[in-house]
Amino acid sequence: MREVALIIEDVTGRKELEDRLSYLAFRDPLTGLPNRASFAERLGDALRRAAGGQGPVAVLYLDLDNFRYVNDSFGHEAGDRMLVEAAKRLGRCAPPGALVARFGGDEFAVLLEGTDGATDAAAEVAERIVRDSRAPFALGGREVFATVSVGSVLGGPGEDGGAGAERLLRDADAAMYRAKGAGKDRHEPFDPSSRGRSLERLELEGDLRRAVERGEFELHYQPKVDLMTGEVMGAEALVRWRHPERGLRPPADFVPAAEETGLIVPMGRWVLEEACRQAREWQLRHASGRPFEVNVNLSARQFRDPGLVGGVRDALAKTGLAPAGLVLEITESALMEDAPANLAALRRLKSLGVRLAIDDFGTGYSSLSYLNRLPVDHLKIDRSFVAVLGEDAGGGAIVSATVALARALGLLTVAEGVETEGQLARLRELACDLAQGFYLGRPVPGEDFARFFAGEPVGGPIGAKDGGGGPLA
Ligand code: C2E
Ligand code: MG
Ligand code: MG
Repeated sequence: MREVALIIEDVTGRKELEDRLSYLAFRDPLTGLPNRASFAERLGDALRRAAGGQGPVAVLYLDLDNFRYVNDSFGHEAGDRMLVEAAKRLGRCAPPGALVARFGGDEFAVLLEGTDGATDAAAEVAERIVRDSRAPFALGGREVFATVSVGSVLGGPGEDGGAGAERLLRDADAAMYRAKGAGKDRHEPFDPSSRGRSLERLELEGDLRRAVERGEFELHYQPKVDLMTGEVMGAEALVRWRHPERGLRPPADFVPAAEETGLIVPMGRWVLEEACRQAREWQLRHASGRPFEVNVNLSARQFRDPGLVGGVRDALAKTGLAPAGLVLEITESALMEDAPANLAALRRLKSLGVRLAIDDFGTGYSSLSYLNRLPVDHLKIDRSFVAVLGEDAGGGAIVSATVALARALGLLTVAEGVETEGQLARLRELACDLAQGFYLGRPVPGEDFARFFAGEPVGGPIGAKDGGGGPLA
């Protein structure tokens, strides 16, 4: 509003008005830097000059690593101050004549031309930016640390004008995501061979990025059944991608790529909030006195995200779900990747009051002494051990040992992948606490889950070894 009033007062002629409007159209009001539209135009010009023999062009694409955290913990004013300071630092790191722009949010870009645009020179500028951002930012008497991830790409003669500019920006952005995926606080040059090597992969990455922006993900829920009572006491949320052309895709098709590109972080944030919202809605709608908890899967990459704990806290606060209603799952193998760091992350999550589960237990080689120190609540026995139940006498040995181990450590056991009545009966005999599986209920969209609240015990009446319920889906 103030900006508009200013224009009217300042206008003394048509020319000034035009200048002012074009300033607003091409500048970021917070930092005064050129915006994305302006950068793309200047990049197009630079590419045409390069085609005319005036040396290469390089684009650096930057994203502050912990900006969301700063904004959330210190407020938007502090966030704004940080962006202004980051813009100043960029100006200092960039060589004279370079174009520094803000693309919105915490994203910036730098355009380097001529000798500055050559491979080594551009890498040097990128490294300088990464180093420089490690110095603490002074925000309202506090020192805040933030790092930056930079992706770079070179464009030379042959990349002409507009279309070339958009492609370079996309490649630089992809390189920046790779820098994030590799652990942030670094510079990654774009790998041109990856373009030809795996077009499908790049297409997938582009599609995935759009999926995050357009909200193409949805959650299916699989019931979690109490083996003593047959009651549904919760659900595991499992993500699906409704791809505009390829239809509904299972996580195996896209979670690995989402992990590699770092897109799992925004995707996971959505999953978490949506699952909490849904669980809270069910708690209110089907209040029967018994607790209802929702399980959400976390990948290793999400676990390393410094914003994870804050994100979980936000999701709970925003949806009104009590912490005890949320169970976070991490696979045993992801947990063992970096045991000490993960132990610290688990403790922080645990302090929020949520419950923690080790997924696919039995496949990840965790040591018993280590397990003893983990602040976890549930062990989910991997499907492969449930599948062999009843095949021969030895089939139950691992399940039975896991149940005994869990009991000694004060943990609950959840059997995964129960597909037959026989397996269910064996699990009851072995005193496993909870179970999931196609026999008890396949994952279904939220709106179809209501039938599991119908009241009929799932998987047969209590104590029945021959089952009475039968498959529900
Ligand atoms: P998970 O957490 O171990 O989930 C169980 C998987 O087993 C699910 O596959 C489920 O549909 C399937 N399943 C359940 N019961 C049975 C059964 O009786 N028989 C058989 N054969 N399969 C059964 P889905 O949905 O394809 O998920 C695969 C994996 O993807 C999950 O394994 C989890 O690790 C990951 N995932 C799912 N959703 C998310 C998510 O929101 N975030 C992250 N980071 N990972 C997710
Ligand atoms: Mg799981
Ligand atoms: Mg599992």
